[in-house]
Amino acid sequence: MQKELQEALNKQLNRELRNAYLYLAISAFFEEKGLSGFAHYFRLQAKEELGHAMRIYKFLSDRGWRIELYDIPAPSTNWEKPIDAIREFVESEKSNTRSIWELVDIARRTGDKATEQFLQWFIEEQVEEEKSALDLYTKLEMIGDNIGALLVLDQLLAQRKN
Ligand code: MG
Repeated sequence: MQKELQEALNKQLNRELRNAYLYLAISAFFEEKGLSGFAHYFRLQAKEELGHAMRIYKFLSDRGWRIELYDIPAPSTNWEKPIDAIREFVESEKSNTRSIWELVDIARRTGDKATEQFLQWFIEEQVEEEKSALDLYTKLEMIGDNIGALLVLDQLLAQRKN
């Protein structure tokens, strides 16, 4: 029982690292396109994902549970337009939310109150992450092929602090 929970937490640790890797790839994509505000935004987003991974790492370590590092596949980066990359951002956050919720189910089923409590932060965080991702997607949809508007958004994203 507890083994299942430990494995699921280790998989989530991997998933957060995978998201960091994906967002770094998205950052590089925007760097190439000369959209440095977007690139900055996704560099910080990647850092945030590393922070999520480290929370799980510390939790596993605090519980005296085994930390296992799995392979991180290279993200596929064949996006054509900015909106294609942002769509992937939205999808990865949605699927991450599902994954956190599944973890909560396992924690409940195994009666592990500490893990259930630990995951509350992630549940709230995912609401924020999905909101930011969707917000960005909606803006890009509105922008369409308007380069001027895209450059304004790029400047706004350059202001992200953390
Ligand atoms: Mg995350």
